[in-house]
Amino acid sequence: MNIANWLYASSRAYPDRAAVRWGDALHATYAELAARAATISEQLGRLYNLRPGDRVAIYAANCPEYLELLYATWWAGAVAVPVNHKLHPKEATWIAVNAEARLVFTETGSQLPSIDLPEGCSEIGIGSQAYAELLTELRSVPAATRKPVERSSQDIAWLFYTSGTTGRPKGVMLTHNNLTAMSLTYALDVDQVSQSDHPLYAAPMSHGAGLYNFPYIRAGACHVIPRSRGFDPSEIIDMAGSHGNLTFFAAPTMVKRLVDASKGRGFKGKGIKSIVYGGGPMYASDLDAALDQLGDIFVQIYGQGECPMTITALPRHLVSDKGHPNWQARRNSVGIAQACVSVRVVNADFTDCAIGETGEIVVSGDPVMRGYWRNQQATDETLVDGWLRTGDLGHLDADGFLTLTDRAKDVIISGGSNIYPREVEEVLLMHGSVAEVSVIGMPEPEWGEAVVAFVVPKKGAICDREHLDTWCKSQMASFKKPKHYVFATELPKNSYGKIVKTTLRETAARDVVTIDRSV
Ligand code: AMP
Repeated sequence: MNIANWLYASSRAYPDRAAVRWGDALHATYAELAARAATISEQLGRLYNLRPGDRVAIYAANCPEYLELLYATWWAGAVAVPVNHKLHPKEATWIAVNAEARLVFTETGSQLPSIDLPEGCSEIGIGSQAYAELLTELRSVPAATRKPVERSSQDIAWLFYTSGTTGRPKGVMLTHNNLTAMSLTYALDVDQVSQSDHPLYAAPMSHGAGLYNFPYIRAGACHVIPRSRGFDPSEIIDMAGSHGNLTFFAAPTMVKRLVDASKGRGFKGKGIKSIVYGGGPMYASDLDAALDQLGDIFVQIYGQGECPMTITALPRHLVSDKGHPNWQARRNSVGIAQACVSVRVVNADFTDCAIGETGEIVVSGDPVMRGYWRNQQATDETLVDGWLRTGDLGHLDADGFLTLTDRAKDVIISGGSNIYPREVEEVLLMHGSVAEVSVIGMPEPEWGEAVVAFVVPKKGAICDREHLDTWCKSQMASFKKPKHYVFATELPKNSYGKIVKTTLRETAARDVVTIDRSV
């Protein structure tokens, strides 16, 4: 089963319905979207020799062409590799190489150091002449005549690049079956899906927001790409008025910014049907403010790339169920297991924890990834006897509500983007003046968390904020750069010689004022 069949079916059932809007302007009806996807897929085969199973990377911010590129890839039976547009070109190239991509779609073309791309891999700029050539046959290929290539439901559809504790990005293999299970469960547990909905892409389509396209394609709803290509609270308030029935995924920090903007404009949520939040902790006071300002439009989900968007959900009637005696505890939880998964909290020996006891969250079911791309060791460590080890710690209550207590993987979430400390540490360690380093996240009101680097300089070396900042800028995306540096003569270690990050967090929390100063 190829998940592109969903677009194929909608294009025949609702050919004239608007499928994609670029702000207010119509980009494509369902018939046009399917025709564009089918035509591009055929041309990719003809001009670039794209074959089923080949990988196609998309390194671009949200744009009206994003959905047609995803579906063109699947139409051809190939594997989409959406890459976070905020990554540095060097990082994007690393992913293209690791995925052995045959094609990379980029914003403008010639963006990646082509010398580093895998042999036989072509780069196509979205909107370039090469892109236009993919669509020259458009008129003569009615979508209804050519179905998407047949795939097994266990074939890979989406290679989702995330990072593990090692800091190296890993390609999570998501199959057509994984994405189908995620989408069916969305309609059952997260939100009702209707043709009159306007799914809005305020967060990157390379991640959760893009993953949520499927149920709305199936329903024949109209997808809206904001002109800002990202998250602009004022624009969303305007679009709520002009489009109505907006529904979108937002990180908790985005919800907070939308609430602040809404207060400023006296906006009370009219025209927004649902906001699905997740990906990081939502603070209780922020949720209260959001409910007060925008009403009962909030649904929480907990998931991870390895089990996309589909571990637990806290549906809107539970988020706002103020009359329930346990409402506060429930609101602070991530909800109950979604319909297609089993969720357990286990001890180190994989036995179930008691109610209220903290352990590692493990999950099984149809949305769980097939494994990591070309990384059997990491797959074996993460998929154990049919259970996905999430690396998250939490506890269950007597009613089945799961509360997350810590992120065992130490991921820093800043402005809704994940930052993996080890990756930043490795870059800093490459600078000649750094002897030792450890990177942590520190709570910060505006972005959720800020990156703090504890650095032990090499003796006699010139090691200061300015030099390290310039170095980081040349090596990685700017959102990952440390915001604060603490220079130290040594780092706290346990008896195994491992750096104790909890001590560093305490130091950062206690000693914020001395941060940026040598100690
Ligand atoms: P990613 O794989 O990049 O989507 O990151 C997934 C991680 O984000 C999870 O393993 C959790 O640590 C965290 N996360 C996801 N959803 C939530 C949530 N609703 N509340 C708190 N943390 C979350």
